[in-house]
Amino acid sequence: MELQTRGLAGGLNENPFGRTLRAIQTMHHLLTPILLGLLLVGCANLPLARGDFNVLVFSRTLMFRHASITNGITAIRQLGAQHGFQVDATEDASWFTPEKLTNYQVVVFLSTSGDILNEEQQQAFRKYIEAGGGLAGVHAAVYGDVATEGNWQWYGEAMCAAFTNHSAIMPAVVEIEDAKNPSTADLPKRWSRIDEWYNFIASPRGQVRVLATLDETTYQGGTMGSDHPIAWCKKVGKGRMWYTALGHTEASFTEPPFLAHLLGGIQVAAGVKRADLTPNRNPQR
Ligand SMILES: [Zn+2]
Repeated sequence: MELQTRGLAGGLNENPFGRTLRAIQTMHHLLTPILLGLLLVGCANLPLARGDFNVLVFSRTLMFRHASITNGITAIRQLGAQHGFQVDATEDASWFTPEKLTNYQVVVFLSTSGDILNEEQQQAFRKYIEAGGGLAGVHAAVYGDVATEGNWQWYGEAMCAAFTNHSAIMPAVVEIEDAKNPSTADLPKRWSRIDEWYNFIASPRGQVRVLATLDETTYQGGTMGSDHPIAWCKKVGKGRMWYTALGHTEASFTEPPFLAHLLGGIQVAAGVKRADLTPNRNPQR
């Protein structure tokens, strides 16, 4: 199901606007000017200019579907309006072609779940990332059998961690490890917030730049011990991957610190803000 059809490539040809217009033109002559006027007012806020950069939000779910996806898309659109980037959102995997992907500096996997891309789409996405594109993964976008693309080895290597399970929704403290990264620079050193907290089969440390860890002593359900990465980034070929395990709740997407975290992550993955992507091997607190 496609949520939005304002594609940069031929979007207007794909949406029902043209058909609606033609149908209206056949209606009663007296009504036509009024309805056309309303339609044009309705379309007046369609963004026509490209932003500083372009973001594709992909939220296809074939397994668990997070209620927060709706809020997430709204939030990313608002961030785009405030910070000068253009946002398209789709759940249609057929957008994953070399031609369409080149329109975007970054693709956000917003709590995707299941095997969301076929082999051809996977190859297009892999080439896009390795040639310099960006992936910003949120929450269930992490690799895993009950998370996203658990059978796609490349995706697992790009993510560097596999989901196992999660805690209940409860408060916990996130400790910022790299306070220079745009996605963590504006956050308190010890960031207390409510979320559903993910565990992974193994820590990605050593392969990624860990940006934040969870203090497992501050909640119940952590299985990773004293070093529990919860947000990280890395280079993938000439491209960039940024991931946050935060973002289960609908409230996350109206929480200013989380929105600052997400904005910075999108900018880092897009390559429009500088960030150190070098793996940090030892925990630093
Ligand atoms: Zn969740």
